[in-house]
Amino acid sequence: MAQPVGFFTDTTLCIGCKACEVACKEWNGLPDNPLEFRGSYDNTGQLDHANWRHVRFVEQTTKSPDKPIAWSMMSDVCKHCANASCLEVCPTNAIVRTEFDTVFIQQDVCNGCRDCISACPYGVIGFNSNTGTAQKCTFCYDRLQNNLKPACATACPTQSIKFGPLDEMRQTAATRLATLHAQGMSEARIYGDKEYGGLHAFFLLTDKPETYSLPSTESAVLPSRNNIPGYLGAVVTAVVAAVAGLIAFRRRGEAKP
Ligand code: SF4
Ligand code: SF4
Repeated sequence: MAQPVGFFTDTTLCIGCKACEVACKEWNGLPDNPLEFRGSYDNTGQLDHANWRHVRFVEQTTKSPDKPIAWSMMSDVCKHCANASCLEVCPTNAIVRTEFDTVFIQQDVCNGCRDCISACPYGVIGFNSNTGTAQKCTFCYDRLQNNLKPACATACPTQSIKFGPLDEMRQTAATRLATLHAQGMSEARIYGDKEYGGLHAFFLLTDKPETYSLPSTESAVLPSRNNIPGYLGAVVTAVVAAVAGLIAFRRRGEAKP
């Protein structure tokens, strides 16, 4: 029976091989990237319509004279948010939640308005000018429907990308975090327990989220839920308008002969 699924990506195990990127492109028939040197081993650059996985290379200077540069690698992807702003804003209901609790863009319903692209706080959705539609990771919906693991998780040689039932993944993440803390990695943390209602693709990071170009935990909430004064103001305005309408309606009724 279908159940909520998730990715737990342990960035401490990522070696930056990009097997996940290649497997995703191969399974989903995505176009390759132009061959150009971008000043980094990260020649993918970003998530977009042609890149549904992106191994982010975070370069940081160290105090060691032998190794002045250190890399942190993180295989990024659509977070399949519990509170998904892309799904909320889509005017044609092209974006749906599947039986696996993932977020899926129906290509035959998308009208290419790009509202979802502006709404996604993680910048994962791209516009495909050939199809005229918005595109992103499908969580390999076709593979899930056939009891197969997503292509990226299947290809990962270090099991940095783990896939399974969401509850099981959260438990695995908590155990791994406790191990790293016991080893003295006090900066290790889970990103995705609370952000946007909980992410179905969540991460073990060794630094603050901003280092990986992720929004901080405090800011990772939908604006309407965050803006309590604005929300209350809208409710009061709506109630006042409704009462005024009722009074006007009754007065019109009383004025009739
Ligand atoms: S990461 Fe962006 S595209 Fe993915 S579910 Fe969340 S809001 Fe939607
Ligand atoms: S789940 Fe499938 S579509 Fe999504 S990044 Fe992995 S391979 Fe690509």
